[in-house]
Amino acid sequence: MIFSFIYNNGYFIVEEMMLDKINDKLTPILNQVMERNTGEKEFHQAVHEVLGSLGHVIARHPEYADNALIERLCEPERQIIFRVPWVDDQGDIHINRGFRVQFNSALGPYKGGLRFHPTVNVGIIKFLGFEQTFKNALTGMPIGGGKGGSDFNPRGRTDREIMRFCQSFMTELQRHIGEYIDVPAGDIGVGGREIGYMFGQFKRLTNRYEAGVITGKGLLYGGSRARTEATGYGAVYFVERMLATKGYGFEGQRAVVSGSGNVAIYTIQKLTSLGAKVVACSDSNGYIIDEGGIDIDLVREIKEQRRGRIKEYAEHKGHSVKYVENGSIWDVPCDIAMPSATQNELASDNARTLVKNGLIAVGEGANMPSTPEAIDIFQEAGILFAPGKAANAGGVATSALEMQQNASRDSWTFEETESRLAGIMHSIHDLCYETAKEYGVPGDYVRGANIAGFVRVAEAMRALGII
Ligand code: GLU
Repeated sequence: MIFSFIYNNGYFIVEEMMLDKINDKLTPILNQVMERNTGEKEFHQAVHEVLGSLGHVIARHPEYADNALIERLCEPERQIIFRVPWVDDQGDIHINRGFRVQFNSALGPYKGGLRFHPTVNVGIIKFLGFEQTFKNALTGMPIGGGKGGSDFNPRGRTDREIMRFCQSFMTELQRHIGEYIDVPAGDIGVGGREIGYMFGQFKRLTNRYEAGVITGKGLLYGGSRARTEATGYGAVYFVERMLATKGYGFEGQRAVVSGSGNVAIYTIQKLTSLGAKVVACSDSNGYIIDEGGIDIDLVREIKEQRRGRIKEYAEHKGHSVKYVENGSIWDVPCDIAMPSATQNELASDNARTLVKNGLIAVGEGANMPSTPEAIDIFQEAGILFAPGKAANAGGVATSALEMQQNASRDSWTFEETESRLAGIMHSIHDLCYETAKEYGVPGDYVRGANIAGFVRVAEAMRALGII
């Protein structure tokens, strides 16, 4: 299936071949989203994918399209863009741009991470906020959807510079968030250190110890056990359940996990503990192949402690490890692929290579890492495909567990928290699986997730009236 947006006479039109996926009522909505959000191609892509799944739902439940519900769903409730001035260690002043898109609060306060990366712009934050709305709905927890971040590049910055940036960012953000309003967390470029600095600044500015205002906190100041591990572990639990529908398990499977950040690290750790062999991981400069199985302690030391590059893994291990600069990690043959780096990192040619090399399943740890063409190739080849908004929901679900612990001033054990996470991932899997079956597309987890997430948000929006 060919997927492209064509700019025609001032309008974006969807290439004809895609229209069979989209109900008549939905095409003008998609066109309006494209017109109104010119140039925001990741946002168009995310909306296109969801609307492309809703044809059968609207046919069966025309009431979900009443009162411009879908138009409202595609327009964020609020978009905040702000200046973030900060001073580097040399005394030079930098100006970054900060964002918070409060997408949908039908199911609960806005909830979603903050991304610090030079590629961040309003279109990226909007795509992430839109995805987050459905992902959060799938968890079954009382959280709406939002996302934020900045085009700040943390790479090479000192700890003091990171702190000053986080403080400046929060100086503006604090007026827009709160435990009943909007609850940020981490994402790419934002981990425990940054959350600590931002929470510290929030506390200072507001004079309130409002732990539930942000998640991903350290254990000493209101964090939850298993939150750090949750996105990676959760993605593996989802894939485990998906494999089981075909009678497969992890034992002896060969896996490739892209990335080497928080999601990738805990995906590799859990895959390995369940009997798979993870042979490759990457960063934005290149990838490593370790046929003996990735040594996760070494990756953690390089990435979490030294904040170094994955190349150092090969330098440390010597000849047994191959480092490939600028290549594609998807050239490495595997049974299970878990893209856990960033959006659109896995394109159609990569998908074809993976299928040719005998792939059986894909579990997306990142948000929207596979392009629409790649997804079509996987699905047409009968590969089990778990989309990010379902498979990586364990992170935000555990954030909601953190909010729950903060609200009750409680702190659960690792085992308690992880077992809740596993239960949530299994129910998200089963919901997607059953929904796909119910709507006549068995095994299609993309439609299953989009439909199930949509139905929950739509039901709540209908109940709340035209707001
Ligand atoms: N950034 C993560 C995500 O994409 C986690 C968000 C959160 O915990 O609020 O879902």
